[in-house]
Amino acid sequence: MRRLRLLRILLSTWLLGAAGCGSGGPPDVVLITVDTLRADHLSAYGYPRPTSPFLDELVARGVLFEAAYATSSHTTPSHASMFLSQYPVQHGLLTNEHPGGEAPASLPRRLGEHGYATAGFPSVRFLGSLSGWFERFETPQRRVVPAAEVVDAMLGWLEERDDPRPFFAWLHFYDVHEWVRPQQLPIAGDHREAMVAALSSEDAERFVLERHAAEAALYERARERGLWPVDEYDARIHAVDAEIRRLYQGVSELGAGRETVWIVTSDHGEGLGSHGWMSHGRFVYHEQLRVPLIVEAPSGVASPGRRVPVPVSAVDFLPSVLELAGAGLADREGVMGRSFVPLLRGGSDWPPRLLYAERRPRDEHAVRREWIPGDVYTVFDGEEKVIVRSEGEDAYFDLREDPLELAPSAPDAPDAEDLARRAQAFRAVLEPAVGGEPDIEIPEELIEDLKALGYL
Ligand SMILES: [Zn+2]
Repeated sequence: MRRLRLLRILLSTWLLGAAGCGSGGPPDVVLITVDTLRADHLSAYGYPRPTSPFLDELVARGVLFEAAYATSSHTTPSHASMFLSQYPVQHGLLTNEHPGGEAPASLPRRLGEHGYATAGFPSVRFLGSLSGWFERFETPQRRVVPAAEVVDAMLGWLEERDDPRPFFAWLHFYDVHEWVRPQQLPIAGDHREAMVAALSSEDAERFVLERHAAEAALYERARERGLWPVDEYDARIHAVDAEIRRLYQGVSELGAGRETVWIVTSDHGEGLGSHGWMSHGRFVYHEQLRVPLIVEAPSGVASPGRRVPVPVSAVDFLPSVLELAGAGLADREGVMGRSFVPLLRGGSDWPPRLLYAERRPRDEHAVRREWIPGDVYTVFDGEEKVIVRSEGEDAYFDLREDPLELAPSAPDAPDAEDLARRAQAFRAVLEPAVGGEPDIEIPEELIEDLKALGYL
């Protein structure tokens, strides 16, 4: 077995030539998406409970992005943005039900052409819609499976693998998402005990209510149903963290010394009471969009322990992973993102830009839950943000003064008007990609701005 693996390494080096990372040929790449994981509930992001001991270790060896954002507060649209480097209104996978098709320009398909084996291990059946993008794909046989099964599937695949090519593997964990339905994906009670031992339920809840500007009444109602929201949410992060450690150890043992890039992120955050909403999908406030992003890459590619304050987006994954794999991006057609690899090394050449995100479209299910009518999308940078509603008033926030987005400025404030105009232009540029026509006049100078920022 060992000899086979050695042969595999030698073959891959010979077959693929140019290295993406260090000296040992293109690296294996593991992308983990922990569904529904708010960045600010990880200890590495300042949370007072030790929810993520393994990810803390990964941060010490790797790079942490302090301001990473999803493109949607909904699962499939957000994942599709990672794999296609397009915003939802462009790639068209607007709800979890949309089929992914073949998508030859997707990240896994591009890596496949570059000599990579690609494998996807989601934990919910509906993500089987992306199966056409991967060479190997394990759609769960049940609606949802726990992280432990996903890790077992991945390690089983590696164990039986006899393939000289490097691999790109995507693993998706749903356990944190199911904090609202703990019986759906039970976790061991000791994770909850560990969290409460570190910080009592009452203190954790007080922290969240104050720091997240969450609504106490929602917590009251949850507790009436027998649920301690913050304890359950945190315990599930702790449980998934342990599974990521098991995966990491397993891959390290089976990888026979080959370099591996590790990327841990999420597809969106969670309300946890902020803006009167416990879950996600309804709004585009930052608590539903800001996600962790931790990257461990071989030395020479990343500076260990670095923290990057520059805002990055899910659309940046495709160009970044291609660069890490040594594949490059010959044609930027349809690619909205920018490679963040220079930031891993400590580079600072990162021209300012606006990021975009949207809420999933209104649907039958949503209407029953008193959905805000019409389209809702947002455009933001590190300092300001506008939320645009097709049926309702826009909301402008100065994030420097109001990071929790609690007090929108008057819509006619000069900054608010300017950002709202840029947001509408941004959206208008995106819409023709799916055959729609912009419904507003786009000033010529805004088109020039967007061109200068690389969006046209
Ligand atoms: Zn999700």
